[in-house]
This record gives sequence, C-alpha cells and structure tokens, in this order.
Amino acid sequence: MPVLRARVCTPKNSTTVRWIPDAIVVIEEGRITELGPFDGRPIDEDLRPSVLLPGFVDAHIHFPQTRIVGSATGPLLEWLDRATFPEEARFADPQHAARVARVFAANLASAGTTSSLVYSSVHPQAAHAVFQALSDRGLRARVGPVLMDIRCPDELMLPADRALPALAELADTWHGHNDLLEVAVIPRFALCCTEQMMTGAGQLAQDRNLWVSTHLSETQIECQIACDLFDAPDYLSIYERVGMVHERSVYAHCIHLSDSEWDRMAAAKAVVAHCPDSNDFLGSGGMPVRAVQDRNIPLAVGTDIAAGRSFRLPQILSSAYDNGLRQGHTLNPRTLLWWGTRGGAQSLGWDTGAIEVGLDADLIAVDVPPWAETEEQVLAAILFDKDAPLVRKTWVRGEQVWDRDTEIHPWNSWETP
Ligand SMILES: [Zn+2]
Repeated sequence: MPVLRARVCTPKNSTTVRWIPDAIVVIEEGRITELGPFDGRPIDEDLRPSVLLPGFVDAHIHFPQTRIVGSATGPLLEWLDRATFPEEARFADPQHAARVARVFAANLASAGTTSSLVYSSVHPQAAHAVFQALSDRGLRARVGPVLMDIRCPDELMLPADRALPALAELADTWHGHNDLLEVAVIPRFALCCTEQMMTGAGQLAQDRNLWVSTHLSETQIECQIACDLFDAPDYLSIYERVGMVHERSVYAHCIHLSDSEWDRMAAAKAVVAHCPDSNDFLGSGGMPVRAVQDRNIPLAVGTDIAAGRSFRLPQILSSAYDNGLRQGHTLNPRTLLWWGTRGGAQSLGWDTGAIEVGLDADLIAVDVPPWAETEEQVLAAILFDKDAPLVRKTWVRGEQVWDRDTEIHPWNSWETP
C-alpha cells in the first residue's frame, strides 16, 4: 500500500484543475484510495519537489514509425511513399518489429504516456510484437495492425480474406490481456482500402465490440482522391457507408471537413484525434478547434509519430495552443491538460486520466523549475517549457513502468542487429 507525498496537479473538468502544493496519495491494489493535503502520517516515498500528474493519453501514434521521427517533410502522400512505406515494410521481419517495439514502449513510458491508441504496420506478427512489448512494459493501450489492400506497395498489401482473420486471431490472443490491452480495428485510410475491406472491418469491430480508428480529411488532395475513388459526396460519407462512424470510432486529423460532416460527426458521437504538431510539420492545415468545441464533439490529442515530432504529449498540447491562436482562439491551459489526460481518456472510453479516489493509479512524476509554486506557474512549465527533462517516474495501475534514474534513454536501448 504505497503512500506517496508529492505536489499534485490534476484536472477536475475542462476548465479547472485541482492543485495541492503538499499532498498525500494512497494507492491500494492499483487504485487511488485517498487524496488530500499531507497530514503528517508516515509515507513510503516523498516525491517532492516533483509534481504528480495523471498519465497522458495519446490518441494517435504509429508504432512502426518510431525510427523515422523528423523525416516528415510534406506533403502527406509524397512522405508516405518516400519514407513511411519503406520503413513499414521492414516490419515483415518479426525480430525487427520486436526490437523497435521495445524502444517504442520505452518512449511512451518515458514520455509519461500511460494510455495510447496505436497503429501498427500491416503485418500481424508486428502487432504481436508491439503487444508483447507493451505488456512487458505494463502500459495501457489499444492496438491494431493497419489494414491496406489496394493502392499501396505490394509488400504492404494484405487482402481482406487474410487480414481480417488475422485480426480476429490477434483479438483472441490480446484483447483484454491484463485488463490493459485491447485490439483496435484500423483501416489505414480510404485511399489504401477497398470498400470490401472497410465493410468487413466495420463488421468485425461490431461483432467483437472493438474500437475503430482511421485517418480522415488530412489533406485536400487526399479528400479529392477519396471522393473520386468512392464516388462519394464527401470523405466522411465513405466511412459512414461502411458502418464505421459511431461513438467507438476515432478519426485522426479532421482538418478539411465541411459543416455537414462536422454535424454528422457530432450526431454520431465520433471522436476527433487532434494531431496539431503533425498537421504543422506536414503542412496539412489547421484543425478548426471551434467546430469541435461548439458541437461538443469528443476530442483527444495525438502525437501522430512520426509526422509529429515528439512522443511527449505536452509538446503536442503546446502545438494545439498555437493552432488555436492562429484561429483567433486562445485556449485555457487547463483545457489543454484536460485534453491530454482525463478528457482524452473519457473520449477514448478509458475511465482514467485523473488523480481521483476510485480511479486506477496511472500517474507520472515530473520536474518543474524550483521557482514554479503556483497553479499557473506549474501548468505553464508542464505544458509549455520545451526544455523540461524526461518524466521522472511513470506508473500504470500503481505499477512503476518507468524510472529515469535507473533506465537509459529510450534511444540508447536500441539493440543493434
Ligand atoms: Zn496517422
């Protein structure tokens, strides 16, 4: 029964946080059972001056792109051909996949990301490898191989009659594993999928009660090609047609949607995975934040590694702030924290993301500068100071999954073949 003493900062709702400058947090069997001001009782670990936060939630990240961060000069479709697809083809080798998966899991833990929605490569064995690494590390995640059966390199093409049974088998093995891991159904995007593949994928998700995720309206040329290919009035209608737009579906990017598409996203309670750093780096455009907020559309934030440039959610939340500013919309830092923790978790169906009695202890301890003493100063340092050190410690359900003092930097854990 660890009793922790720390400074605590946790979201209460989308506009307020709870800041306790000297707090006690009690964890029993992986859950938070007490939180309040320090009362003088004996403690197991004094984390001060570190600040204890809920772990971050990454709504969109590509595991097989771990080694190509920084390669994403746009535009999107050229980058996929030039850098992404050749790298993803290497994941046909299960040993390569396992090596990268260990670095990937270490990167997540060291960034303080305790829950993530992960796109793997097309290869079922690579998905097994990343599940194994996430399980070994003890992280919470929802993972699926990307489904691609047309208009992509031959080595990345897997027809529906092979891909969907392999996905079902993956679900038999990993879905519900440790109560932390789940399988997701991920047709990569309409450009790489036949209608038959997407219909089958949507059906499998429904039959197995799995979440669905894909890319939507990232670039204008992609929207145009998708609508031409599927003879569709707009991009969202392609996914609607195959039964993929509902409250357990997560759409990455959503930059170039029409008002009608936004209204239908809201009516379906579909989730937006906002990837502002990736949108900037590839030059894809800005996700219209007000379109989401005005309609109360569920939102979470994604790094979109490797089009995004960091595993660290605060870097992405900082980009989300900049994206808002460019639209004349100044976001409250408390809203950003909400999106990256409790709000993001709730959008993705996880009852985590806050330090509250009754929730799983998915926590991180972070450093802030010694002069940060008020709620405003602490939030500013956590969200906007890009020179912050790696997260000091990370826990998932009360188990420590990262300790900066005893582990090497994730880059240096790469095992040279
Ligand atoms: Zn993506």
